Amino acid sequence: MIQNVSVIGAGTMGNGIAHVFAQSGFTVTLIDVNPSQLQRAMATITKNLDRQVTKGSITEDQKKTTLTNITTIPDIGEGLKQADLVVEAATENINLKLEIFKQMDLLAPAGCILATNTSSISITKIAATTKRPDKVIGMHFMNPVPVMKLVEIINGYATSKEVTQQIIDLSKQLGKIPCSVNDYPGFIANRILMPMINEAIYSLYEGVAGVEEIDTVMKLGMAHPMGPLQLADFIGLDVCYSILKVLQDGFGNPKYAPCPLLVNMVTAGNLGVKSGEGFYVYEAGSKDLKVSKNF
Ligand code: NAD
Repeated sequence: MIQNVSVIGAGTMGNGIAHVFAQSGFTVTLIDVNPSQLQRAMATITKNLDRQVTKGSITEDQKKTTLTNITTIPDIGEGLKQADLVVEAATENINLKLEIFKQMDLLAPAGCILATNTSSISITKIAATTKRPDKVIGMHFMNPVPVMKLVEIINGYATSKEVTQQIIDLSKQLGKIPCSVNDYPGFIANRILMPMINEAIYSLYEGVAGVEEIDTVMKLGMAHPMGPLQLADFIGLDVCYSILKVLQDGFGNPKYAPCPLLVNMVTAGNLGVKSGEGFYVYEAGSKDLKVSKNF
């Protein structure tokens, strides 16, 4: 039975994953190499829980219990000792993930399931660095995790049917809707989403239209809740870049090559919401969406 869950990486996704497990009564250990990220993550979780209390979807007591269920720790060794499940949500970089999974395999109890929230990296490749490939699986939450219902469950080549079923059942326990897919580059969500975002950036780069026009066409014309450029800012432009590289390398097809404008923005550190500027500017406390002065 899964009760103790360790989450590795306390960034955009890690804090949301810790939040939903803790709210569903699991004991959560949130791990990050960067202690200030751990502080920021707890502040974000508290703010999001406050919003849920204001909306009446949880009580003040449920908020308190959720926060009590989370412990933060910068040390992966200590953080994995009791784990029944580890969900890795560190930076989207294959070498980093392979290294983390080697450590997870060494440090987590033998029966522990090792899941990754990767957006695109091969589960089969990650699993092959461990001695328990049957217990390695993709558990791809969507951003923002407390709000979005979908969990894309990715079966690696060696993932056992029992582990897949356990993770499907667990996702339902979290109030999510799991969808099981096979392990090919980008899986389903990002194989379809990222070429659309890249094409939106190409349209801007080629001067076909401005930032607001591109997003407005897709919002009003296709009933998307958010335009592709705003969504890219929200995901993180570095994350979009990394996923496109995985698609390009995985399929050997240049159609997935990241647009040169995206490459420049990532190089310049304009990563979207997390850095305060991408296609739009994000000022603390401001609800207005302002296009970056670069466009
Ligand atoms: P992020 O950059 O916001 O956070 C990554 C965190 O990982 C940082 O806090 C960093 O300090 C930490 N980290 C790096 N190396 C570490 C290590 N060795 N041990 C522990 N922590 C470490 O990234 P993110 O957007 O939260 O993405 C995390 C994962 O989730 C990626 O695999 C990404 O592809 C995936 N994902 C992202 C989104 C999204 O919308 N951003 C959506 C779904 C999935």
